[in-house]
Amino acid sequence: MNIAQCQLCGQQKKLLRHSHVIPKFMEKSIKDDLHRMKLKKNIEDPRPGIYIQKGFTVRDILCATCDNHILGRLEKYLSEFIDSPDYQNTIVKRSRRIIPGTLPSHRFNVDYTKFKLGILSIVWRAHLSNHYFHKEIDLGSFADILKDMILNQSAGDKNFFRISIFALTTDMEALKIVMQPFPVEVADFKYLLFLISGAMYFIETKYNPENTLFKTHLKEDGTLIIPVLNMELSKVFINAIFKREDGFELLLRI
Ligand SMILES: [Zn+2]
Repeated sequence: MNIAQCQLCGQQKKLLRHSHVIPKFMEKSIKDDLHRMKLKKNIEDPRPGIYIQKGFTVRDILCATCDNHILGRLEKYLSEFIDSPDYQNTIVKRSRRIIPGTLPSHRFNVDYTKFKLGILSIVWRAHLSNHYFHKEIDLGSFADILKDMILNQSAGDKNFFRISIFALTTDMEALKIVMQPFPVEVADFKYLLFLISGAMYFIETKYNPENTLFKTHLKEDGTLIIPVLNMELSKVFINAIFKREDGFELLLRI
């Protein structure tokens, strides 16, 4: 039994051996009937990849209360949103038939605090993970701020860690990929990019009102607008990010 300090509540408690970084429900579309996924070093790697059955976890960071009640509640909220017919029908199904040259978007109403903290709790766990897959996510001094926000169920300032989501549509199985998350720093724009099952999550780490990626960010009143990139745009985007010299690790459908 491992008694140590829980990274969220700070109490000395028995810690769970494993906590998922990306909630299981977000990996559902990637798993086959035998719950298997494939881990590849790089999209262009000709080798078949390694079969794995469990997404990446972080060891010994959370007590059961924090994992089940605090993070569990946020995950439940996210899963209700992502599994809802509204999201599945508008984003996942209909978006495959987008007319080239258009950039439609869908408007949702969400609980601002739960949604924001749900996404940020994934980012926070990726920061704590020692796994190679999450090696580029380092929140530095923001980690403690995020921890306090999650613990106190507070969404923080509206301009702090803004979140924007874009949906991808492609025949390249992009809807069935989890990509190694990474930070982007271009001029004065700083954000993290997580690609999970066809949705790109942009998380701003330095507020910049000029950053057009955050035009449709999640608003305090719960408005969430998700632009959907058509097939051509999705391919351009995917090809651009996959071109990185050392590549990205990916979880794919077998
Ligand atoms: Zn705890």
